[in-house]
Amino acid sequence: MTAGPAAASGPGAGPAPSPLPDLDEVVRRLAAVRARIAAAGVDPAAVTVVGVTKGKPPPVVALALAAGLVDLGENYAQELLDKVRWCEDGRPDGPVPRWHAIGRLQRNKVRALAPYVAVWQTLDRPELVDEVARRAPGARVLVQVNGTDEADKGGCAPGEVAALVDRAAGAGLRVEGLMTVGPTDPDRDPRIGFELVRGLVDRLGLTVCSMGMTDDLEAAVACGSTMVRIGTALFGPRQARPVRD
Ligand SMILES: *Cc1c(COP(=O)(O)O)cnc(C)c1O
Repeated sequence: MTAGPAAASGPGAGPAPSPLPDLDEVVRRLAAVRARIAAAGVDPAAVTVVGVTKGKPPPVVALALAAGLVDLGENYAQELLDKVRWCEDGRPDGPVPRWHAIGRLQRNKVRALAPYVAVWQTLDRPELVDEVARRAPGARVLVQVNGTDEADKGGCAPGEVAALVDRAAGAGLRVEGLMTVGPTDPDRDPRIGFELVRGLVDRLGLTVCSMGMTDDLEAAVACGSTMVRIGTALFGPRQARPVRD
């Protein structure tokens, strides 16, 4: 895999994405992620690693699968669909990823995604719950909580979680747990939001607690995360905003 031609520069072009690492490197990095989980005092076998492939070209999917990752996350609808198409065209007999939709989700994207998404991680409002229930009956879902009260983030307020969980379950969705994103502000202690969300998972009798990314996975697993979503630590840095969605 070579880096493409030098990216067009100019206002807004951003840095060129780094080339994909090779398979040995991804295997090493995945082992390093599991070692970080263990060093935080948690059994890595108890934590699902979702490989976040956003901002990387479609061959990242083959790389992730070869490294043993089955759960893959994408933020943007079009990018997820491009990767699905790449898999269908190029790898008819290969293993199939379990796609997790982890980005802010517009209601009008649900229908196109429904045939391919295995886990909807970002249900955060009633109309989105209803649309997923309609287009993907019985699907696995997580309710996203804004655990830091930051305005720039997706997720419902902690006080709205129980009603959304009830609504999703009542609509026939398989509500497995909650998802949250750590603080945007690097000066804030991520454990405060993580502990809040873990407490809600327990209070509601749920099992999955999706929290922790490259920079805060130790804090997340120490607070009881059962699912970390890791992009940069596995596949390298990416452009800030890869595609329009
Ligand atoms: C991008 C993203 C990730 C992965 O982030 P890294 O810091 O690259 O590990 C995880 N979760 C969500 C919701 C994301 O948007």
